[in-house]
Amino acid sequence: MADPQVPIDVDSDTGVWRTDGLPMLYVPRHFFMTNHAMIESALGLETYARCLYQAGYQAAYAWCAHEAKVQGLSGMAVFYHYMRRLSQRGWGLFDATGVDESTGCGPVVLRHSCFVLHFGTNARRKLCYMCAGWPAGALNWVATAAGKHSKVQATETLCAGEGHDHCEFLVEATQST
Ligand SMILES: [Zn+2]
Repeated sequence: MADPQVPIDVDSDTGVWRTDGLPMLYVPRHFFMTNHAMIESALGLETYARCLYQAGYQAAYAWCAHEAKVQGLSGMAVFYHYMRRLSQRGWGLFDATGVDESTGCGPVVLRHSCFVLHFGTNARRKLCYMCAGWPAGALNWVATAAGKHSKVQATETLCAGEGHDHCEFLVEATQST
């Protein structure tokens, strides 16, 4: 379940919102989704999804490095903290209990995806590709911080936008040494 306690600091001089020291934006979901749909339409799904995967991966990786320092966390605790924060910020409720802690592989379940809530359950396609790079970037940060050379990638394999009960991202190994 999502705990609503996200720390938010608003700078009274600039109006900038911060959580854990990171500047944040607070926008209506419909505004974000309209942007999302128009860019997907302009770029095409494949190109847009590839860009979002890379951007999301990099953001997750950087976020984990930042939060590990700020929160004094390490290892999989950083990844679980990331999943919790995403769930607290309205993207949907992420459940990563299916991920094997030794390999970083396994399913990440997403319920109440913001994309499905906005675009509906009759989209007849997967809607949440924007989120795929997030668990991969976070888990690769965990592996690298632990001195491992293994890497993972993630793909949305089930989506509630296709009528499934929930969305699911499968995290799989991409290479190992
Ligand atoms: Zn989905």
